[in-house]
Amino acid sequence: MLPQAYTWHTFVEDFMQDFSAETFRYFAFAGLTFIVLYWLGKTFFFRRKIQQKHPERKHIWRELKYSLLSLTIFALVGVGVVACYRLGITKMYSDIHAHSWGYFAFSILAFIVAHDFYFYWTHRFMHWKKIYPYVHKIHHLSHDPTPWAAYAFHPLEAVIQAGIFPIMIFILPVHPLAILVWGLYQTFLNVMGHSGFEFFPSGFTSGKISKWHNTSTHHNMHHKYAMGNYGLYFNFWDRVMGTNHAKYNETFEQVTAHTQRMKAEKAAARKPAYQEV
Ligand SMILES: [Zn+2]
Ligand SMILES: [Zn+2]
Repeated sequence: MLPQAYTWHTFVEDFMQDFSAETFRYFAFAGLTFIVLYWLGKTFFFRRKIQQKHPERKHIWRELKYSLLSLTIFALVGVGVVACYRLGITKMYSDIHAHSWGYFAFSILAFIVAHDFYFYWTHRFMHWKKIYPYVHKIHHLSHDPTPWAAYAFHPLEAVIQAGIFPIMIFILPVHPLAILVWGLYQTFLNVMGHSGFEFFPSGFTSGKISKWHNTSTHHNMHHKYAMGNYGLYFNFWDRVMGTNHAKYNETFEQVTAHTQRMKAEKAAARKPAYQEV
């Protein structure tokens, strides 16, 4: 049962708690990434920039505005989840010893795998031409996204994106700490995918194991071309369904080759111009 004293005050308190936690996480990850890559290391890291240009300020403000709107919606969904938890109708557990640590680790992994599946298929659904203009187009206004675009969604898309959370807590026994770990991983990967920079080394997208993990180039290409490369964490569903962009590997190698070439040029510049005998 919800406590008798569940009032507007409780609602506002839950909302503020959720909203501040989500917003803090967003600003910590996206803010730090932006400061390092777009301010302090603007010149130093430029060789790793996937699209060799910097976005206009007005695009950054739009990404920030829509992300804050999405975080408000996420917090409202969070309030609903907390209310269901208080009613005791979810499968969430508060005593960490109710299940083993092995199960705790499994629940985090299960959350990630399920979210990867959910994201891929809802994303493809949102690219359906009858849905796209009303739901997903806002996210694609960023053709060369910055870290601030991580949650730059239309409010309807924000509801869809948040949907995995209430679905999972009714299916899988999960501790709030496991949800927090998943949330941190999700934010990190999301910000990385929108960073506009590639940090994985050449050969990553063709490695036997590494090719199954997504890269920043993968999602950056999705924003550039608005087709192909629909996956989130893993390059599993895109491979299985044949939806990787035809030039994914080629583009990744071009981006990382650019990095290698700049490194080689720098190393050559440090060497003396003549050989001592
Ligand atoms: Zn995106
Ligand atoms: Zn898309």
